[in-house]
Amino acid sequence: MHTPSTRAQGARIEFYRNTGQIHPRTTHGRFNTWRWAMVWLTQLIFYGACWLQWDGRQALLFDIAERKFYLFGLVLWPQDALLLALLLIVAAAGLFLVTALAGRLFCGFACPQTVYTAIFRWVEAKVEGDHLARMRLDQAPPSARKLAIKGTKHAIWGAIALWTGISFVGYFTPIRELLFNLGPGELGPWEGFWVFFYAAFAYLQAGFAREMVCMHMCPYSRFQGVMFDADTRTISYDGRRGEPRRPRGTAAARMATAGAPAAVAAPALASRPTAGRGDCVDCSLCVQVCPTGIDIRDGLQYQCINCGLCADACDEVMERVGAPAGLIRFASERELAAPRATPTPTLFDGLRRPRAQVYLATLVVFSLLGAWMLAHRVPLQVDVLRDRHALLQEAADGSIENTYTLKLVNMLEEPRAFRIRVEGPAGARLTGNDTFQVASGSVLPVPLTVAARPEPGKSGAQPIRFDIEALDGPPTAVTEQSVFLLP
Ligand code: SF4
Ligand code: SF4
Repeated sequence: MHTPSTRAQGARIEFYRNTGQIHPRTTHGRFNTWRWAMVWLTQLIFYGACWLQWDGRQALLFDIAERKFYLFGLVLWPQDALLLALLLIVAAAGLFLVTALAGRLFCGFACPQTVYTAIFRWVEAKVEGDHLARMRLDQAPPSARKLAIKGTKHAIWGAIALWTGISFVGYFTPIRELLFNLGPGELGPWEGFWVFFYAAFAYLQAGFAREMVCMHMCPYSRFQGVMFDADTRTISYDGRRGEPRRPRGTAAARMATAGAPAAVAAPALASRPTAGRGDCVDCSLCVQVCPTGIDIRDGLQYQCINCGLCADACDEVMERVGAPAGLIRFASERELAAPRATPTPTLFDGLRRPRAQVYLATLVVFSLLGAWMLAHRVPLQVDVLRDRHALLQEAADGSIENTYTLKLVNMLEEPRAFRIRVEGPAGARLTGNDTFQVASGSVLPVPLTVAARPEPGKSGAQPIRFDIEALDGPPTAVTEQSVFLLP
């Protein structure tokens, strides 16, 4: 990968290309349709999921104060952190697999930065007009009209950003409670900070920084190149078909840029093939629609987020000039270099590569492991703590007593009764109650005294076992080991 600017400058190296605000031209096509489908899907989930209810409470909630994660009927505790780690590994393996197969597909279609930039840019186009109107407005001197238009845009951006901040915090504080407190301004300091911080973050990132984040801030764009190989399919320009370009200003280029309807333009421009010329009419539409302002014809560049908008624009142009679509398309390096008659590989062909198989195997193995752990998850956690102040004491009947505290963590959202038994040195028994009621989703510290008869020839630390069994609800049993001290 290279930056054209660094090559063109000779000895001078630019580490940052200041392009100013980019106002890409609007385009339509299948990639744009997919992009908007992903915007709708991701935002319906993000803005909507925090409103779902389950058993009288919010279905998806990271309750930091209570240290619980509610996931519909499942309640995860800090003790389930391994499941979260597995989930992260599965997500990372999935991302690596997609990147190895289809390049920066996540960046172009599902990354929150891309999605919010698309939404903010759509608002901008509705309020300020098309890319030319936006550029003219930016360059216009200050006026009441400019102030009104810009003010309207920023007000709408601010409202979207604020709702985004509220929705984000709504996954950590029940959203209905949050809104109830927002009205009279009674947000807690934690909620207040994060609502406005996240809103400001969304406003600045999507409204101003935009693809600069992808180009200069996102660490993933820097290291995902290691997942690429000659079979990774990315949005690419077919130079063999496109070059040499037809000179700028030809009728074809003018018609293509003018945006004439295909039905009118195609017959007039059905001049392909032009002897000694490629299919690219050098209309620059692929550059004009690019949100990162690059020219895909310069080859694979780290700025490219694989959004496919240049392919959509070029397909329209090809239709107008009577050439087949796909001068810019999803294609691998190997595919572009192969003889023309070679069949186009499918995404599943890509799965035959060792690196894709490693990512796929990681994905499958850790998904199965996570599913197995979830299926065998015991909704009771027990911690045994020995009393460190009194190691042992002798009772009036001559038996030896050790004291413990058992922390019973009832991980179900229903109260449960548990019975505790001990197995240890001769005659080991609990001196008091052995049955305890633990409220739903709570921790009950249980002080216990265990008595045992001293045994000749035995002294010091002896193994002891606590068996805890649920008396109601789903069958649950946990065994914990500790030591019993004899004189
Ligand atoms: S849109 Fe297509 S025809 Fe126009 S300059 Fe780009 S590659 Fe060439
Ligand atoms: S070159 Fe630009 S428009 Fe084309 S896929 Fe890359 S980022 Fe999108």
